[in-house]
Amino acid sequence: MPVDPQLLEILVCPACKADLEVVRLDTATAEALVAKYRDKFRDEEPVVEEGLRCASCRKTYPVVSDIPVMLVEEALPAAE
Ligand SMILES: [Zn+2]
Repeated sequence: MPVDPQLLEILVCPACKADLEVVRLDTATAEALVAKYRDKFRDEEPVVEEGLRCASCRKTYPVVSDIPVMLVEEALPAAE
């Protein structure tokens, strides 16, 4: 399920308050995030396919089972 466009409209980067865009995560990144979040989803396998990338600082916030994780400390660092 894609991120709700209305939700996306009100979300901003918690680090710099810039707009976010939906990006598809590469397989290795997605698998690493599934492993990371599995402990928090005891009854079901987390689904990680997309992230929200900041237009300004380029951090990417993972979307885990349709829930955007808007925490700076959980963000993927900007790719180079
Ligand atoms: Zn940012």
